[in-house]
Amino acid sequence: MPRNILIICVDGLGPEYLELTPTPNLDRMAVAGGFVIGQSVIPSVTNVNNVSLITGALPRVHGITANYWLDRATGQEHYMESPDFLLCPTVLQRAQRRGMSTALLTAKQKLLRLLDAGADYSLAAESPDADMIEKVGPPEDIYSPSINHWLFRALRVVLREQDPDIAYCSTTDGMMHKYPPDAEESQRHIHGLDAILGEIVAENPAREVYLTADHGMSAKSRGLDLEKLLGATGIAARAIPIIKDRYVAHHQNLGGAAYVYLDDHRLLGDAVSALEAEPGIESVHARAEAAAQFDLLAERIGDLFVLGDQDTVFGQFETGQAQVEVRSHGSRHESAVPILAYNSPLSPTYRMNLDLVAALGIN
Ligand SMILES: [Zn+2]
Repeated sequence: MPRNILIICVDGLGPEYLELTPTPNLDRMAVAGGFVIGQSVIPSVTNVNNVSLITGALPRVHGITANYWLDRATGQEHYMESPDFLLCPTVLQRAQRRGMSTALLTAKQKLLRLLDAGADYSLAAESPDADMIEKVGPPEDIYSPSINHWLFRALRVVLREQDPDIAYCSTTDGMMHKYPPDAEESQRHIHGLDAILGEIVAENPAREVYLTADHGMSAKSRGLDLEKLLGATGIAARAIPIIKDRYVAHHQNLGGAAYVYLDDHRLLGDAVSALEAEPGIESVHARAEAAAQFDLLAERIGDLFVLGDQDTVFGQFETGQAQVEVRSHGSRHESAVPILAYNSPLSPTYRMNLDLVAALGIN
């Protein structure tokens, strides 16, 4: 029997957002289908997890290890948003090979570019075509509270008019960066998504629907500048903010994980000791160990992989550290994510968000 599949990634949807917001449609789907709290890939950032989801593979296989990275071979820093970085096919490419029709919808243009391989139809809410604007109305800007609602309405139109065999839809986490789960603005946002999803499910009663998140979100109060902290002990290094993307209002380049590249490799042991002694740093992993423990691709990470505790972000600060007030992600503490499967013919065990796609059996 031909399958109709919808995969939704709600960016930044930590489980507490669902706990504190009335979501009658998601609740009904969870009861009728299956729901667990699982784990995202670490570092808990958007590009790494969206690519893990859309490929059903781990970073050591698909090659996306950050939003932003330092290419050791050239010494250049890049956003990791080109599809050229992908080392394995997406589920949309694999579906196409089976003759299935495919669609991709994202909030951010940068994500559309990264995930676009294998999409018969694609659309970013940030820059939609005139046809969709006519049907859904003009979207507000990418930082607006309504951008994800617009995206879900566009998804509804695409399912109705094109009925793709498989669709992948990914929102943006601007609202979670701005508001904690108990804020009224946040609840309006999540409740609105739930309402449109309810309409989508009512119109597509036989479609398999899978919903998860790329990462959660935590309130952070301590900022550490890893380059300056190492510099103070005589160790020259570059610290790359894994979370950095072009949408600075969301991240301010402050995230809970960093890759550190040492000028002199012989100082590796000293650097580990210095960082491990720093309050706010939860763990420090040398490259080979980090690649093994977190399933990362060793060639595309730093000499060190540094993870912050729940309260800490890494970035650039004049004096080496600072008090901050920011909601962000990247560490282990933002890796809990909801995993929902509705109308699924399978009942596999989902441990990680990417297991949803891996279990589809579209190889
Ligand atoms: Zn984010």
